[in-house]
Amino acid sequence: MTKQTGNTGSNLQIDGQALWSDLMETARFGGTPKGGIKRLTLTDEDRQVRDWFTSTCKSLGCTVSFDSMGNLFARYPGQNNTLPPITMGSHLDTQPTGGKYDGVLGVLGGLSVLRALHNSGYTTRHPIELINWTNEEGSRFTPPMMCSGVFAGVFTEQEVLDKRDRANIRFGDELERIGYRGSEPCGQHAITAYFELHIEQGPILETEEKTIGIVEGVQGMRWYEVTVRGKDAHAGSTPMPMRHDALVASAKMIEALSEIAFAHSPTAVGTVGLIENRPNSNNVVPGETFFTVDIRDPNDAVVLEMESEFKKRFADIAEASGVTLDIVQIWDAPAVHFSPACVEMVAVAASEGSYSARRMVSGPGHDAAYLASVTPTAMIFVPCKDGLSHNEEESILEPDAEAGANVLLRAVLKADDAFNKDA
Ligand SMILES: [Zn+2]
Repeated sequence: MTKQTGNTGSNLQIDGQALWSDLMETARFGGTPKGGIKRLTLTDEDRQVRDWFTSTCKSLGCTVSFDSMGNLFARYPGQNNTLPPITMGSHLDTQPTGGKYDGVLGVLGGLSVLRALHNSGYTTRHPIELINWTNEEGSRFTPPMMCSGVFAGVFTEQEVLDKRDRANIRFGDELERIGYRGSEPCGQHAITAYFELHIEQGPILETEEKTIGIVEGVQGMRWYEVTVRGKDAHAGSTPMPMRHDALVASAKMIEALSEIAFAHSPTAVGTVGLIENRPNSNNVVPGETFFTVDIRDPNDAVVLEMESEFKKRFADIAEASGVTLDIVQIWDAPAVHFSPACVEMVAVAASEGSYSARRMVSGPGHDAAYLASVTPTAMIFVPCKDGLSHNEEESILEPDAEAGANVLLRAVLKADDAFNKDA
């Protein structure tokens, strides 16, 4: 294959209508009456959308393969097919009451890039690959980002194959059943660079009326479980000074956590999203409470600072309230910093397209967070209505989808030029 003379790829454009029609067409697989998608990983609906993905990519001149975790790779040939591919990807699985765009936009946006290449006849130096990662959502089998995690060596293949859903069905058996367990060992697929287009899942781009988020990394995050123990007592006969009320102490702790997060805002966030109160009876002074703490910031040092601050404040509150305290850290995901070179390619791509853009850090985790540990990586965000995601009402604008895919296309072409120069 030869490169067309004079064609630098700069005249390539995404077909926004075709992209939108792909989004609406695939939304049928697991479509819900409220306009969302229920397409849990490794279900029949997941198989249907994978079959659609495979046949559509083949019709655009790709070969399609899948690895031992069912990660799907659609490969569009380049001039030098010994080079590891420039890749794009995201996920086609959804939450039980998911929207039409979370993950799906990244895969179908990538598909629209392959379509632009195919329709123009332009041949890149590297092969270009589009990846659909298995089980990003982690709602049927936990944790999330499971198979990009195996790809990056965070989890072993065996531990993932042996995971079970709430109906006690084994991950490995379901992968076999839907016919997507491949022979290529997961992670042994060389990649030159990875780009992921995704909806923001937050309100910043919409509020600031920006079209493109140039994503520089993913926030550091820590989760804790907190148990506060006081003493159950009769609500009528126990005088206030003699109480050891676990719930009142917890309420003060929750407020303290919020104050700490506010003090480090706008970057930091702190959340208590789950609470249990025992015995939870209207005439008993609560003897024990249990709650979770979730703290995040783009800078790991700030996460650590918040941790030591809330631990100190919680201990002081416990002492003053006559209760005991037990804090267990259950999750630690350090901040991810994407490749400055790839981030710059996204920034230049956005400015060449004359899209309004801002640099930002992702709040949620993404497959790109694991990919960043094994290959140069960056992400592109587009706005979603009211910042709403993991919700059937998730909504984006058609021109924003097209803009995001155009930036993805431009970034991929820049990476194709920049990497493996001497090859
Ligand atoms: Zn997603």
